[in-house]
Amino acid sequence: MCAYCGSKILLGGKRLNELRFCNDECSNNGQALTSALVPQISGADVRLLATRIHSGPCPKCSGHGPVDVRVSHQVWSFLLITQWRNVQQVCCRRCAAKSQLGSLCFSVVLGWWGIPWGILMTPVQVGRNLLGLIRPPDPSRPSERLMNLSRLMITERMLLDRQTVSAD
Ligand SMILES: [Zn+2]
Ligand SMILES: [Zn+2]
Repeated sequence: MCAYCGSKILLGGKRLNELRFCNDECSNNGQALTSALVPQISGADVRLLATRIHSGPCPKCSGHGPVDVRVSHQVWSFLLITQWRNVQQVCCRRCAAKSQLGSLCFSVVLGWWGIPWGILMTPVQVGRNLLGLIRPPDPSRPSERLMNLSRLMITERMLLDRQTVSAD
């Protein structure tokens, strides 16, 4: 659903952070509205939501937290084509370790086959996964990433609330 006009998005659409918009116009309007809304969001609300997610059950496995935003890193390449991406997930440490290990193996097997980016990016993505495995976010409090995500979730809800109000 478009975060600005509320219409259904079947294919594609524009993405701005985690928000989706149906076209450029909505994306621009949404962006303007978002920057107007964000200063109205109180830091206390953001912290409250982040803390609730952090201490809640894992959305992936329903197991124990702490839950945080955790990133796994992939790269694959073939000849002149190289693609890499960093996948964010809100999950517990065990789920993150699974996807980081999976992404590490994926990249070790499929990363190297392109010049020059495959050869350059494979050690980078493998290293990032290793770092994520060895040094997960501080379990005692929500990370900066989780705080940003919470701020975004509140923004999205404000955008949607505005639609219900204007529809009346
Ligand atoms: Zn729209
Ligand atoms: Zn989990």
